[in-house]
Amino acid sequence: MSAWETVIGLEVHCELATETKLFCSCPNDFGAEPNTYVCPVCLGLPGSLPVLNERAVEFALRVGEALHCDVPDESIFHRKNYFYPDMPKNYQVSQYDEPVCGNGWLAVPGSDGTAQRVGIERAHLEEDAGKTSHVGGGGGRVHGADHSLVDYNRAGVPLLEIVSKPDLRSSEEARAYVAELRSVLEAIGVSDVKMEEGSLRVDANISLRPSGAEKLGTRTEIKNMNSLRSLVRALEYEAERQAMVLEAGETVTQETRHWDEEAGRTHSLRSKEESHDYRYFPEPDLVPVMPSAEWRAEVRAAMPELPTARKARLTEAWGIADVDAGVLVGTPGLADYAETAVAAGGPGRDVTNWVTGDLLAHLKETGAMPSSLPLSPAGLAELVKLVGDGTLSRPLAKEVLGAALAGEAGGSPAAIVAERGLAQVSDEDALAAAVQAVLAAHAGEVDRYRTGEDKDRKKLRGFFMGKVMAEMKGRGNPQVLNRLLDEALAGS
Ligand SMILES: [Zn+2]
Repeated sequence: MSAWETVIGLEVHCELATETKLFCSCPNDFGAEPNTYVCPVCLGLPGSLPVLNERAVEFALRVGEALHCDVPDESIFHRKNYFYPDMPKNYQVSQYDEPVCGNGWLAVPGSDGTAQRVGIERAHLEEDAGKTSHVGGGGGRVHGADHSLVDYNRAGVPLLEIVSKPDLRSSEEARAYVAELRSVLEAIGVSDVKMEEGSLRVDANISLRPSGAEKLGTRTEIKNMNSLRSLVRALEYEAERQAMVLEAGETVTQETRHWDEEAGRTHSLRSKEESHDYRYFPEPDLVPVMPSAEWRAEVRAAMPELPTARKARLTEAWGIADVDAGVLVGTPGLADYAETAVAAGGPGRDVTNWVTGDLLAHLKETGAMPSSLPLSPAGLAELVKLVGDGTLSRPLAKEVLGAALAGEAGGSPAAIVAERGLAQVSDEDALAAAVQAVLAAHAGEVDRYRTGEDKDRKKLRGFFMGKVMAEMKGRGNPQVLNRLLDEALAGS
């Protein structure tokens, strides 16, 4: 592979979180009964006219700000003509040579702490198509299916297609770019960025060229990668496939290829279309988009904090590691959750430890969003306090966290501690009694401890502590116990 340089450019389709669709007032919502969010406009019925959603344009302007794009005074919509059953009009209203945002960049943090500036070619508004499901055999594919069902709820949902320049050189750089872009889109509130629900869809253009060459090789476009992991796997597979084609003295065919997650390979879908295949022409039913200077200034003034700035702020304010701040900011909803917990009284560093540790593991395992957890940020702050004031030992705190995440006692750590009787025992009399009982039951070991070599003593010390903790059913305050045990062992 080292003889070849991989060149990757990404097209990220971001579903905008507007309340209504791009050209009509139907709700823009995921998961409703099929064909309930439709009207003459998004069904493409004759005589209906589109009206542009102002909010979608505002969101595009925000993205333009965040990605340092040129925003022209005027952009227009085009019709992109192609036939597909889930596209009611048989053309898609999109933008072509005059998009709403052009020529920007995104700083992508690398693993070595430096940032790579990835060029943004353009970002344009367009409407989404509906969704076709192939059922009754064929495993979800059209071949072998008994029949197909079309759901138009998604038809007309606003998309912003963000096209990068071919600046990426590896699957890892591509992953980092999408992760950073996702954080930015989340931070500026334009999308819920859920890849698994299709709110963020990535297509990749990939080609190889001999290392050191200027001219780009023939590229393929890969579709159907619905997670960052699929993106990395698909790009690695495709780079290797193209290298084998080129090394066999053959040429790469320009085409669109489908990533098959289960088989772990790409296969040819169709020959790649050129833009003339789509017979683009200006959409006559819509006026040009001309955002005023005042509006753009308002959008700029209202821009929220971007991930890079937030990361720096949290690192500074909470004294946490750069990598942990990166996890908080880079995981949808996680930094918001942590900041709310800190606002509720949890120290930043402790909150970060829990959130990036056990809580994140739970999110990954269940696919839940932080905002939908039964354990609220205030609940986490409460848990951190229970550990801080010595009510709860660390292992028991983990148990309480697990119970709270499972929704026990309404997700309240304090209630779980009370219900399960988990509060740590710091009472010296009770702890001293436990120490005495253990030492009395193991007189032989106590003798060996008092007369033995250092390494045996260390082992025996651990043995006594384990026995005493078992006697206390894991609830003894370890600091107090350690002190009492040392005192008892030192005595004769
Ligand atoms: Zn509609």
